Amino acid sequence: MAKNIVFKALSEGRHTLLEPEAYKLLSEYKIPVCRHKMVYSLEEALNAAKEIGYPVVLKIVSPDIVHKSDVGGVKVNIINDNHLRESYETLMNDVKRNAPNARILGALVVEMAPKSVEVVVGLLRDPTFGPTVMFGLGGVFVELMKDVVFRIAPVSKEEAFEMVKKIKGYPLLSGFRGAKPLDINSLAELISTVSRIGLEIPEIDQMDLNPVIVYETGFLIVDARIILKSH
Ligand code: ADP
Ligand code: MG
Repeated sequence: MAKNIVFKALSEGRHTLLEPEAYKLLSEYKIPVCRHKMVYSLEEALNAAKEIGYPVVLKIVSPDIVHKSDVGGVKVNIINDNHLRESYETLMNDVKRNAPNARILGALVVEMAPKSVEVVVGLLRDPTFGPTVMFGLGGVFVELMKDVVFRIAPVSKEEAFEMVKKIKGYPLLSGFRGAKPLDINSLAELISTVSRIGLEIPEIDQMDLNPVIVYETGFLIVDARIILKSH
């Protein structure tokens, strides 16, 4: 059950879910996530990559690291065994150098999602209005342009549609200059489900799905950060 994942982390004194735990929680809500496998050695990483299929992404798993790429904790587009051996070593060395005090539990081998438009779906708690969902375009759009919209939970699928249509970058999703329109329908469903998670699991303080990569059919969540309340 989704709540058990949260309770387990809290009982261990943790206030962030590990990335694989966050994926598990999302899966309990039938939200599709990238195929992934937790590994504890290079040997296991090679086996996981064989199972998942190249190209893969390698990510550090640590309860002490929130922004993985800031410390060299994400290596993308790994194309074969030799490349993975190299990347595994670089990943571990980079993280140990950049975050010397972080406990390293292992790594996550993840399917490499094809390129497309990246969006962000977030959940936060407004002191007055309670669980609130955020939606915006990913990458530089969210940081530089602040092209985001907020809505108080619960957010129905219809309301989620309106949120998606409100952002300035909407043409990038709806089919810009002859580009194929992307799957806004499943995106609206995702936003609505995230608002439900906010209502059903009050222990979650914050959730950040960044990025969610949107396709003509469906989407893939390639990073999930879930922060629990600290009281
Ligand atoms: P961070 O903790 O730094 O936010 P992310 O897991 O979001 O780390 O990875 C950083 C970036 O790497 C993402 O924003 C995305 O562009 C890319 N990335 C991560 N995982 C994948 C994946 N499975 N497929 C494709 N790109 C990925
Ligand atoms: Mg991210």
